[in-house]
Amino acid sequence: MKFYSLNKEAADVSFKKAVINGIAPDRGLYFPRDIKPLSSSFFENIEDQTDHDIAFKAIEQFVSESIPENKLKEILISVLDFPFPVIELEKNVATLELFHGPTLAFKDVGARFMAHCLGYFLENQNSEVTVLVATSGDTGGAVANGFLGVQGVKVVILYPSGKVSDIQERQLTTLGQNITALEVNGNFDDCQNMVKTAFLDSDLKSEIQLTSANSINVARWLPQMFYFLFAYKKLKNKEQPIIFSVPSGNFGNICAGMVAQKLGLPVAHFIAATNVNDTVPLFMRTQEYSPKMSKATISNAMDVGDPSNFIRIRNLYKNNFTELKNHLSSYSFTDEETKHAILSVYNSCNYITDPHGAVGYLGLKEYQKDKSDTFGVFLETAHPVKFLDVVEETLKLKLPIPSQIQNVLEKNKVSIKIDTYDELKSYLLNK
Ligand SMILES: *Cc1c(COP(=O)(O)O)cnc(C)c1O
Repeated sequence: MKFYSLNKEAADVSFKKAVINGIAPDRGLYFPRDIKPLSSSFFENIEDQTDHDIAFKAIEQFVSESIPENKLKEILISVLDFPFPVIELEKNVATLELFHGPTLAFKDVGARFMAHCLGYFLENQNSEVTVLVATSGDTGGAVANGFLGVQGVKVVILYPSGKVSDIQERQLTTLGQNITALEVNGNFDDCQNMVKTAFLDSDLKSEIQLTSANSINVARWLPQMFYFLFAYKKLKNKEQPIIFSVPSGNFGNICAGMVAQKLGLPVAHFIAATNVNDTVPLFMRTQEYSPKMSKATISNAMDVGDPSNFIRIRNLYKNNFTELKNHLSSYSFTDEETKHAILSVYNSCNYITDPHGAVGYLGLKEYQKDKSDTFGVFLETAHPVKFLDVVEETLKLKLPIPSQIQNVLEKNKVSIKIDTYDELKSYLLNK
């Protein structure tokens, strides 16, 4: 399958080229030329298939031109080596836990998939690719972990100084080897803008091959559709229509869920739950898209004022607002409401959510006020321990520290502080 640029001023490319480029030369996001639905028997018999088979069938059409079948299967086996449990908490409410990967973030799947693809594309070649990634929290750790030691790839991570949690910071500053962390004096949007500027910089382009590991990269974005299929496999027997509430920042995860729906997954509705960074909830009310500066919140991996993937969502529905509204609702919540949800879910279900999952829970409950006949799944995108301070303070208890985290807590942070794009550029050119 070919991928085209949503700005429509660049040539169509293969999956391989789209992964290596990250973003198209006209600065547009890549998008698959067409999405062929899977057979109805695929969904009818989904419970008889392994997660690896499901993932293979879902992603095959997008990548088959660039990755042979055997290699793709091998990649999926190494990427998907942890569980994705669905836990029912209340009547008609379940959570899909996506935090059982090596960095306890749902981004582990996309990051590892992309790392394996890029590693494969660069095998036996002398070229080197620099992966440049901006993180508002969890991307950095997942990308650093996924790419650690991959031959031919250097990873440079930009993160906003003082705006990620201690554990998140350690996950991206303690690995060494081919991973470098740049600590930016600014917020996430500043980091993301620096990355976007770097991609357009012809001085850089002539010296190094740059790509992005944010969800703008198709290899990070598309594998996230697996989660929705895996959840459906477990919930297929429910009588009610299934809806997903996705805690959203850059809107890559929810957009991948919508691609799964285009493949034929029977989803009745999507809910994009955000924190006070409410650009999309406002758009869904006013039809006016006004990006804003991002505001810092306790669900910091969603502190995004201008979500990159929303353009892909609009494109999926042919920029038709009515059609989009039939598939998507979006609500925003304050930190106070989020903490209150963490507490009330704990008190009533004895279940600990992280602040992102709690925002997802709130979005689900809001939608179900009018649609109580639906079966709702909210995505729990990070392990609560990654937001230790907030969760412990809200619940007045101590969380046990899993071994994956214990390991990073013992290591020392190494980062390079930068203030401006020019500093990023000279860092990249001096390498
Ligand atoms: C990245 C992230 C999100 C938001 O995902 P998007 O695909 O950017 O919308 C939500 N929760 C956590 C914990 C994350 O790391």
